Amino acid sequence: MTTFESLELTMPILQALNSKGYEQPTPVQEHAIPQILAGRDIFGSARTGTGKTAAFALPLIQLLINKQKLGKHPRAIIVVPTRELAQQISESLRLYAQHTKLRQVVIYGGVSQQGQVVSLRKGSDIIVATPGRLLDLINQKHISLHAIEHLVLDEADRMLDMGFINDIKRICAYLPEKRQSLLFSATLSPEIKKLASSLLKNPVSIDIEPDHSLDTYTREQVYFIDKTSKINLLEHLVQEERIERSLIFTRTRRGADKLVKALAKKGIMAQAIHGDKSQAQRLKALNQFKNRKLSMLVATDVASRGIDVQDLSHVINYDIPEQTETYTHRIGRTARAGLDGTAYSFCSPDEKSYLKDIQKYIGKSIPVGEHPYKMLTQPTETAINKPKRKKRLRSAKKATARY
Ligand code: AMP
Repeated sequence: MTTFESLELTMPILQALNSKGYEQPTPVQEHAIPQILAGRDIFGSARTGTGKTAAFALPLIQLLINKQKLGKHPRAIIVVPTRELAQQISESLRLYAQHTKLRQVVIYGGVSQQGQVVSLRKGSDIIVATPGRLLDLINQKHISLHAIEHLVLDEADRMLDMGFINDIKRICAYLPEKRQSLLFSATLSPEIKKLASSLLKNPVSIDIEPDHSLDTYTREQVYFIDKTSKINLLEHLVQEERIERSLIFTRTRRGADKLVKALAKKGIMAQAIHGDKSQAQRLKALNQFKNRKLSMLVATDVASRGIDVQDLSHVINYDIPEQTETYTHRIGRTARAGLDGTAYSFCSPDEKSYLKDIQKYIGKSIPVGEHPYKMLTQPTETAINKPKRKKRLRSAKKATARY
């Protein structure tokens, strides 16, 4: 039986584990701890709930106390997608390092930075941070990453889903080349693999049996529809599927505002979040959405960065994204926390080429959904039968209004 002692963890850590009541390492800890202590980079596929935090935190604490170099600048940085996860990891670190002199500071946005700046001034060995606030504080020269020896990217897949890829690249550019890097992700998409190969040096892969109860499924469907009928299709789906919480993506800010107005005319309350809205307006809309006071949030891709809503039943691509990866980022927002999700894409004739690229990128064709709105611009369309179709469209609208 593997024990924490046999993993060669030192006394202060063993004492802390003992008081936490941990008797035996979990599989991810058993595999990762010796490799991290040996200085190797890690590419870990393990979900929350597997004991992943201790798997990286315990050896990091040990490596840091072994060197006993209490300087002003942090030597380890743990980057995570959300404030909640930052707080949770910070709390675990506090417990595991309770018998050591290590100092840690936790950094996240949405609160005043003053307290965080004061803590940083006192000196820190480990920083736990979300990407946005970390970059803010680096830019303001409150943090220097020149002394970092260990980097952890936790829940990397979620960070990519939340649009943090460029922030991560920027953060990594501040780090010394010579460092140990650990990357953990629940899923191993092509994008995660790409990120891993750009950041990790000769990594050890650790693949911990996923907890299948947490496996989720995203039902994808594309609807071929004229631009002008998209609003009716959205109304139809909202009513037919009783969509309760949906994130709707538009390509432009103007498109987002127009959609909110059009939905309001149909009695569907929605709010837009995009670059023209103030931070306060965005936060208000997001909180209303999180607290279920608002069922629809219309967002542009840039503004949707950092939105973390756990139980989102639907993602709707009101416009097909021009960038192929954006599609996977967008639909990755649903089917989380053990719940399945649905991703609908509305494709007008002029967007078909984007769809083609997306399907090539994801390596499959997205099933086509049926809807009651006849395409006005089908290839067989002739000027003669146009009025007839319009009439049919109106009757289709009436039919759906009965739902
Ligand atoms: P994590 O996957 O890091 O979020 O950990 C999930 C839960 O397992 C947390 O509540 C930890 O405190 C707990 N845990 C982690 N490692 C062990 C262990 N070796 N024995 C018992 N509980 C553990």
